[in-house]
Amino acid sequence: MADQNIESTLVERRLFPPPAEFSQQAHIKTQAEYQTLYRESIDSPETFWPRMANELHWHKKWDKLLDWSNPPFAKWFVGGQLNIAYNCLDRHLLTHRKNKAAIIFEGEPGDSRVITYAQLHREVCKFANVLQQSGVKLGDRVAIYLPMIPEAAIAMLACARIGAVHTVIFGGFSSEALADRINDSKVSLVITADGGFRRGKVVELKKNVDVALLKTTSVKNVIVVKRTGQPIEMTAGRDLWYHDLMTAPGLSAHHQAPPLDSEQMLFILYTSGTTGKPKGVVHTTGGYLLGAYLTSKYVFDLKDSDVYWCTADIGWVTGHSYLVYGPLANGATVVMYEGAPNQPKEDRFWEIIEKYGVTVFYTAPTAIRAFIKWGDQHPKAHDLSSLRLLGTVGEPINPEAWMWYHTLIGGTRCPIVDTWWQTETGAIMCTPLPGVTPTKPGSCTVPFFGVDPAVVDQKGHEVPPGSGGLFIIRKPWPSMMRTVYGDPERFVSTYWVQVKPYYFTGDGARKDQDGYFWVMGRVDDVVNVAGHRLGTMEVESALVAHPKVAEAAVVGRPDELKGQALCAFVTVCSGIRADDKLKEELKCWVAKEIGSIAKPDDIRFTELLPKTRSGKIMRRLLRDIAAGKETLGDTTTLEDYSILAKLRESDE
Ligand code: ATP
Ligand code: MG
Repeated sequence: MADQNIESTLVERRLFPPPAEFSQQAHIKTQAEYQTLYRESIDSPETFWPRMANELHWHKKWDKLLDWSNPPFAKWFVGGQLNIAYNCLDRHLLTHRKNKAAIIFEGEPGDSRVITYAQLHREVCKFANVLQQSGVKLGDRVAIYLPMIPEAAIAMLACARIGAVHTVIFGGFSSEALADRINDSKVSLVITADGGFRRGKVVELKKNVDVALLKTTSVKNVIVVKRTGQPIEMTAGRDLWYHDLMTAPGLSAHHQAPPLDSEQMLFILYTSGTTGKPKGVVHTTGGYLLGAYLTSKYVFDLKDSDVYWCTADIGWVTGHSYLVYGPLANGATVVMYEGAPNQPKEDRFWEIIEKYGVTVFYTAPTAIRAFIKWGDQHPKAHDLSSLRLLGTVGEPINPEAWMWYHTLIGGTRCPIVDTWWQTETGAIMCTPLPGVTPTKPGSCTVPFFGVDPAVVDQKGHEVPPGSGGLFIIRKPWPSMMRTVYGDPERFVSTYWVQVKPYYFTGDGARKDQDGYFWVMGRVDDVVNVAGHRLGTMEVESALVAHPKVAEAAVVGRPDELKGQALCAFVTVCSGIRADDKLKEELKCWVAKEIGSIAKPDDIRFTELLPKTRSGKIMRRLLRDIAAGKETLGDTTTLEDYSILAKLRESDE
């Protein structure tokens, strides 16, 4: 693990205050308002959280706000009872939202569906009845392995409604990854589809399930949604068609949402595995819903008139909190898109924004870098004037990518919320509030309500402003993960022993003079070059700032002289020649941008970088390649295995 002195050399002075027109209409309009609420959330949680929680529907109010008597195992809203599906659906039916669009679905082949709150409620009630008739009980684990289609949200909400624990497994995962996860959480029911559309091809989900089930014993039934219509095998007695079950005579569309305990397990979600074997992160009902609800409201400034689009797959936590639970708890209209951003053409996202008049758009830096690489002509060909707010999540955003997003997509009028959080945190932790916080490209700025972050050395002492250190959270928060499924010791050892008694995020960060946080990536990615500890993220941002570079990943490799040397894997923009001359040019460029200490020792050009399926660069694998080692460890989350072989070849 890194020590306290991570050096930070990249300077960013640009500042973007929120436009006055935005602030005037925002839920939170002024710094003073934010400061007052923030102070209250930290100094007086016993008044702050109950007031916020009262915006949700509780079947029974809690007896105690927080039980922290056995840290790090937290219990929030102890004794309270609520139902998440009721909060996301039923309560809106009593309002003007009854016939409002809940989900606007756009399929990759161009089919679309609009589902109102009343319709979504009906489908969820029916499916909740189906699940119960299939023998699914409170606490049983249900795997959801579906494409990005409305049935995915219906399945999640139906599980939540009856208190079954869902574990959503990204549709891009292999049968092996699927089997591992099913076995780890002893899933009894799998919900899948005959296939899904991705980049014009069919992903054979059901086939993967069939293979996975050869290696598992816990699964009793498989429910199959018909999406592509391609022929599949159905195992008699085990496999059932979703549409048969949902149209069965006598199936009721009524389902009374039962009161569930605040600490009832809601879902298990396996983290993407950029740092090793996937962990089953456990979230529970009350605190999680409050976190997702409140951040959706204030960070995305959701209003009834918004058309909100989060591009994350439901297989990731972003899809859980900001495609399903958070926006639906707010009664928002959510756009859901099944396919790839470049299908059929590189302008698909901009076409969708124009088609539905999207107002709030939330995506990832990896997508933004791809858009930059594809060229400005694509967004420029569409009317994006409906947009009023942009968001990003998943990785630190390179300042140049931020500027492109701000200018080309936001037309310089939309605030950008750079939201830092993790699967483990359940909800956004550090973010600008769009009507309040002046933004700086590359910084996730300030903590959200109730979040007490700090940058510290290994003894837990805060480091001075501007210095790098370990990014920790000092107070428990409602949507925090409760444990690692089946492995409470791993929960303790992964997050709670490094900087006792605080939660260690695994990330390195610095806090600047203005109190803004800058996440520098994982501490495992910090490199020690001749005694200088460098966050590789900053070297990457310097490289990406060069006009010929589309994407870069920087890792350390062992070096006899310097301890570690910097190795940069670089993707160039379309039409650029990747040759030795460019290598020299880039080395000099980094030396000029940051200083000669950060000058990469090796530059390797590559067409693609190894990424997790959620689009994060897997530096762990690149470190092995740079060191000339065989890659060890878990690669089930890698998007394209052939990349590893290609990267090894690129080393001459
Ligand atoms: P694993 O924990 O298995 O390695 P993962 O960390 O990639 O997987 P997530 O929980 O989805 O899985 O990602 C959280 C991490 O993503 C954070 O710890 C941080 O490193 C990075 N991250 C997310 N959002 C931001 C952001 N806005 N700025 C900087 N980093 C971010
Ligand atoms: Mg992580």
